[in-house]
Amino acid sequence: MERTQLLSLTQEELRSFLRELDTAPFRAKQVGEWLARGAAIEEMTNLPAALRARLAECAVANPVSIRESFRSKLDDTQKLLYELADGNLIEGVVMRYHYGDTLCLSTQVGCRMGCRFCASTLNGRVRDLTAGEMLGQVLAVNRMLAPEGRRVHNIVLMGSGEPLDNYENTVKFLHLVNSPERTNISLRNISLSTCGLVPRMRDLANEGLPVTLSISLHAPNDEVRKQLLPVANAYAIEDVLSAAREYVEKTGRRVIFEYALVKGVNSELRHADELASRLRGLRGHVNLIPLNAVRERDLHPPTRADVDAFLRRLEARHISATVRREMGADIEGACGQLRRRVLEDRQER
Ligand code: SAH
Repeated sequence: MERTQLLSLTQEELRSFLRELDTAPFRAKQVGEWLARGAAIEEMTNLPAALRARLAECAVANPVSIRESFRSKLDDTQKLLYELADGNLIEGVVMRYHYGDTLCLSTQVGCRMGCRFCASTLNGRVRDLTAGEMLGQVLAVNRMLAPEGRRVHNIVLMGSGEPLDNYENTVKFLHLVNSPERTNISLRNISLSTCGLVPRMRDLANEGLPVTLSISLHAPNDEVRKQLLPVANAYAIEDVLSAAREYVEKTGRRVIFEYALVKGVNSELRHADELASRLRGLRGHVNLIPLNAVRERDLHPPTRADVDAFLRRLEARHISATVRREMGADIEGACGQLRRRVLEDRQER
């Protein structure tokens, strides 16, 4: 029998789960408090030993453990490799900022979107993460940060995986991470990044969750976009932008457009001009990311001067834009690079 992942349950669901095990009603509160601290079942010392033993047979508390951690000497960014209960590996990144720490969270093991420059997708998708495995990442990191007196303050769903390709679990996670009985993190401190699955973007707009939507645009038109993102063959850029507009209208939140600058593909000034006309009137912000070169792909970032020129051109056309500061350059901070290296090492052994 598969064991129940307690972290995937809302407090209400936890209550009925424990009721079925014939436990006293007040136990749900105790178990919930332990779960919120990222504790394992054997650590739940105010439960009777018999109940702990029974729970250990049929349930799992945190299915995510930190297996390795690499801290950047440049900027304190920390890259994490987690192991899941079934042995699969996922990645995370913790960025320490003065206003609070940000955790970059994974939503799938691998990814099937096939973006040309992304290391997460090179081996395809292995499986979706459960809501509890997403929450488990936050709790494992909170435990790691606790001795420093820190905890996760912001979350970006920008690790491996396409969150909207794992829609139900992602939405459930958003409810869990926001619930006072678990981590109580404000949805306004959460960004969800998508490569642009238009129907799911529309669904998300209707959920009434005030998360920031980041859209991986990466191009000013369909022709260029198709060179980088296979998903552009399924959804036209105009449809992506109209779903973005709908998101802004329904949630009152502005959207972020991610734009990875790739030399010789999308980084010329005419691309900036075209992008500016496309985005005119849309309440959004452009995040320029000089491409993080991935060993397996023959794609490169433009020069710093070209990046600055692109930024200035957007600004001159009244598009709000910034260049994303590169962090963790010495620790394979970019999507999927670390997990990939570990998988390769395993094969070589
Ligand atoms: N699947 C989601 C979230 C994961 S990636 C999405 O596509 O948005 C988070 C961001 O990093 C995306 O904008 C993605 O396109 C970008 N990214 C991935 N690999 C990159 C690389 N090598 N260099 C720069 N940006 C990259």
